[in-house]
Amino acid sequence: METPVNLLDFDVDGLVAWFAARGEKPFRARQVMRWMHRFGETDFDNMTDVAKSLRAKLAQEVCIRPPQAIRDTVSEDGTRKWLLDVGNANAVEAVFIPETNRGTLCISSQAGCALDCAFCSTGKQGFNRNLTAAEIIGQLWLANKLLGGTATPAGAKDAEGEPDNGRVISNVVMMGMGEPLANFDNVVTALRLMLDDHAYGLSRRRVTVSTSGIVPAMDRLRDECPVALAVSLHAPDDALRDRLVPINQKYPLRELMAACRRYLERAPRDFVTFEYVMLDGVNDSDAHARALVALVRDVPCKFNLIPFNPFPNSGFGRSQPERIRRFAGILLDAGIVTTTRKTRGDDVNAACGQLAGQVQDRTRRTVRLTKSMEDRA
Ligand code: SAH
Ligand code: SF4
Repeated sequence: METPVNLLDFDVDGLVAWFAARGEKPFRARQVMRWMHRFGETDFDNMTDVAKSLRAKLAQEVCIRPPQAIRDTVSEDGTRKWLLDVGNANAVEAVFIPETNRGTLCISSQAGCALDCAFCSTGKQGFNRNLTAAEIIGQLWLANKLLGGTATPAGAKDAEGEPDNGRVISNVVMMGMGEPLANFDNVVTALRLMLDDHAYGLSRRRVTVSTSGIVPAMDRLRDECPVALAVSLHAPDDALRDRLVPINQKYPLRELMAACRRYLERAPRDFVTFEYVMLDGVNDSDAHARALVALVRDVPCKFNLIPFNPFPNSGFGRSQPERIRRFAGILLDAGIVTTTRKTRGDDVNAACGQLAGQVQDRTRRTVRLTKSMEDRA
């Protein structure tokens, strides 16, 4: 039997078009959108302001199917991690990080990743498949529901003058498993839902796509759905970056820096965030820091230093805190805002690059993490 259309796969325009093809008015699509995303409703019968006949028709033809959480873990620091079943023995993860003034949800875009960065456990698992738009937005849908978020009227503002969606999740970062820009169309559909007032109504400035630097897709994102941008830099020169982030062989640093400048012409924030994983003795010397300052001279940016999160057989170690402080000092002295990421959720392996559901690689290899999720709980 064919699987029914999942309405979570549509952004607002897509749903309006789908309804129009069936002779239904645009406002009907927007009503259903609000029920699904603002109120977390999956049962058409409960959509009380939608005509009964339409409800019955929808229930027959289509479904609203969010991903299933197969594990829900809370860390001592309040970080909460969900393992989501994406079929065929694959799982991805979403992580909620509560902070004083905001709540950030880190979501995944692919089961595995084909880009194979040297220090990344997701990369080491290989690639299985792109997540659907429903699976991507479904992570926000699910977290919102499980965290007990409520929707407030569109247009409300919070203390910083940012739209207040009245929800526990104020920020979304696409920094979980996978390379978002390698799953462009589904990611953009999900981003549009995050931003839409009929769905989650998040501020563009509070939705961040993190990329390892797929230059043509950065240009497309700028044109089609500009949100805040984070770029995984990790090295100040091509020789080292070729080794750590292999996509650099295709889009070297000069092209990447130019793409960042182009992105900023349309971005909702006036800086790019460069992420830089601190690998002991590999990319963390004073000379590396000075080379970085020169590299980013023409790109308004902030730096986020990420202490490496080790995983079995990674072959890398985490830089010492004092080394990270000195490295940050050189960037700061050059006038670059630099923060060092706190490692959160360590006890539930929810830290960066540890988002390791089991992924079966269909394309290149079948590598399972030596330490399974079962061992970790
Ligand atoms: N594919 C995207 C987004 C997901 S990774 C990207 O590469 O940007 C999110 C961030 O975590 C990236 O900066 C990535 O380089 C970093 N990261 C990956 N593995 C890590 C590890 N073991 N320790 C610390 N950071 C890691
Ligand atoms: Fe993929 Fe990002 Fe990991 Fe690189 S760091 S392998 S791009 S998920």
